[in-house]
Amino acid sequence: MEYRTLNNGNKMPHLGLGVFRVQNDDTAKNAVKHAIESGYRSIDTALVYKNEQKVGEGIREALASTGLKREELFITSKLWFDDFGRENVKRGYNQTLENLGLDYLDLYLVHWPGLDEKVMIETWKGMEDLYREGSVKNIGVSNFNITHLETLKTHTSIKPVINQIEFHPYLTQTDLIDYLNKEDIQPESWSPLMNAEILNDATIQEIAEEIGKSPAQVVIRWNIENGVITIPKSVTPSRIEENINVFDFALDEKHMKKIAMLNQNKRIGPDPLVFNGQ
Ligand code: NAP
Repeated sequence: MEYRTLNNGNKMPHLGLGVFRVQNDDTAKNAVKHAIESGYRSIDTALVYKNEQKVGEGIREALASTGLKREELFITSKLWFDDFGRENVKRGYNQTLENLGLDYLDLYLVHWPGLDEKVMIETWKGMEDLYREGSVKNIGVSNFNITHLETLKTHTSIKPVINQIEFHPYLTQTDLIDYLNKEDIQPESWSPLMNAEILNDATIQEIAEEIGKSPAQVVIRWNIENGVITIPKSVTPSRIEENINVFDFALDEKHMKKIAMLNQNKRIGPDPLVFNGQ
């Protein structure tokens, strides 16, 4: 596993397992367990995915079967709208810890900026409180645009380590990525496989065939080479293994350029400028 260094000096695995839309039953438990046994060290969940309990079970079973220590894993979850506001962040965080059966998270993210700037600022102050008291290793945001981040910069004091955003070859958000790199905020991609849609793209398939890798491996490798942390989701054991098997090859400049040209500014998820959690 390769790691990225965050702006506070901590390290985060370059690739992890996402578990959005995974049932809170053996599906979640087995996917997480299989991923950790296959070399994954990072798991991305959220309170709103309603699967933190079984994700936690998968983590515990994997720690037992591999002999790894908790500190060798990097567990992320996210604060939902219901717990926005400085005084409420801790309630959301504690609920997540209880669900997962963990005593700390490696990364806690504000899931969405929301539509109320004052609430967004107060919520981030609540995240800073958690970080300052040492309850969480790293704090970050998700779905923030440049304006949201500039607002935090003006009104708060701790810079997010991460911004987790929708990012795939049809939505490259180059202005935002350039801004994040300039500000030393690590970009992380959600729906890197565009929920499997991008795997049918002719250019991706052509490159995959040319280099003898799968379309998913091409897209994940493209994230890695762009310096973007990524969290492809799969509950299929063979795909979980396939998706982490991307550290022994590289895409050449020609392939990188071809993929960059696929951008269509096409979202599959909500637009952060209008999403209020409903
Ligand atoms: P994704 O990772 O882009 O795609 C997942 C889909 O691709 C699943 O249908 C999966 O099928 C399939 N797949 C995975 N590997 C494959 C492979 N090697 N070959 C063929 N198909 C493959 O979708 P996502 O779950 O939306 O995004 C990933 C993670 O990002 C989420 O799980 C979540 O942790 C995070 N996320 C965050 C936000 C946010 O607002 N912060 C929003 C959305 C997602 P199977 O599972 O059936 O194998």
